Amino acid sequence: MAIRGGPKAVTALGPQHGGYGPSEIGEEEIQAVTEVLRSKKLFRYGKAEGESTVSNFESLFAQKLGVKNVLAVNSGTSALICGLIGLGVSTGDEVLVPAYTYIATAAAVLAIGAFPVIVESDDSLTIDPEDLEKKITPRTKAVIPVHMRGTPCDMARIVEIASRRGIVVLEDCAQANGGEFRGKPLGSIGDAGIFSLQQFKIITAGEGGAVVTNKKEVFERAAIYHDSAYAFWMEGQVGDADAVQDWRKICFCGENYRQSEVHGAIAFEQLKKRDRILDRTRAIKRKLWAACETIPGVKMERVNDREGDCGISLVFFMEDSKKAGEISDALRAEGVSCGTMFSKQIPDRHIFYHWDYIMEKRTPHRNGFPWASTERPCEVSYTKEMCPKTQGWLSRAVVLPINQNFSAEFVDQVDHAIRKVAQAWG
Ligand SMILES: *Cc1c(COP(=O)(O)O)cnc(C)c1O
Repeated sequence: MAIRGGPKAVTALGPQHGGYGPSEIGEEEIQAVTEVLRSKKLFRYGKAEGESTVSNFESLFAQKLGVKNVLAVNSGTSALICGLIGLGVSTGDEVLVPAYTYIATAAAVLAIGAFPVIVESDDSLTIDPEDLEKKITPRTKAVIPVHMRGTPCDMARIVEIASRRGIVVLEDCAQANGGEFRGKPLGSIGDAGIFSLQQFKIITAGEGGAVVTNKKEVFERAAIYHDSAYAFWMEGQVGDADAVQDWRKICFCGENYRQSEVHGAIAFEQLKKRDRILDRTRAIKRKLWAACETIPGVKMERVNDREGDCGISLVFFMEDSKKAGEISDALRAEGVSCGTMFSKQIPDRHIFYHWDYIMEKRTPHRNGFPWASTERPCEVSYTKEMCPKTQGWLSRAVVLPINQNFSAEFVDQVDHAIRKVAQAWG
């Protein structure tokens, strides 16, 4: 092994820049953005049918997901906020979120004055359905299953529990654009779904997001909240006097989470490239998975649907955190880019343990809202010890990020490196 002074298994040059959407930016995006700029109309409303890049993105996304409604917004976080409002979640409600997710999932719940209740993640590193059910109280209104690192949650069990217990499901697909569960696109299974188009996601517009749902009322409420003047724009958009009347009657106050035409133009072009990226990441993951399975004592991540997995990362577990660290070091010495996932010292904002402002119930509001609301104060407590199972899985995990720019030669050498370390390990 290279770690003991032997030759390095990986000599081929790895990808020189990151993967996913950003590395696919090309003439298509440049052309599309240039057209928007030349038109001097950077705002989505007030355009003729088919002329708005944002609404073209919405239509294509709806078609790909097989959902009736898509609302483009300016970030994944604002998509979560609009999705929660769309679903009727309100101040003082409890919303179940996994212990392993980007902090924005929990922050969005707080932004609307509701309380995140943190649920264990299991050996799929997605929300544990058993713990989810245990954490339901009479105040629970919704659950946000997060398809972490492109791998689907167990949507069959989650939907079954949610419908039996009378709570709604908002899928957080920020990291899983293009994933599926049992043949159904992620985001189309729960009552609503959200996506992010931020730089680090599978496809990107720099910033951006979307709320998706088959439910008309959820869509309308989300759309109203995403724009404080929604009724007025609709008035310009829809010629029909009755429809105008309707919007004025049902509108309530909102914020501004609109998407610009520049972002819409990039998002539309990126979406067309998505499935090509995923074909490649999926093929690489299948190959490297087989290599990782040869490691003595390994336990592979449990992927709830291997066909529907986006293939953007591969995770396996060792018996303890020491062994995870050792094998990760051995693989890195061979030239494999991989790493362990949990450290008490290095704050990873994807792990509940490091969500300081939630642990400490900090707020921007003078009266302590929402934590100290006099009407419905928070009954949830947060400690670093609250999700030992999640911490256990993460501390034993080794992750190999995958992207579409791994060359065939590089993948072969990584495959060989894993098998070589596995053999020496025994
Ligand atoms: C990135 C991300 C978000 C937030 O998206 P932004 O576009 O950065 O606001 C929410 N949830 C998860 C799981 C994410 O990875």
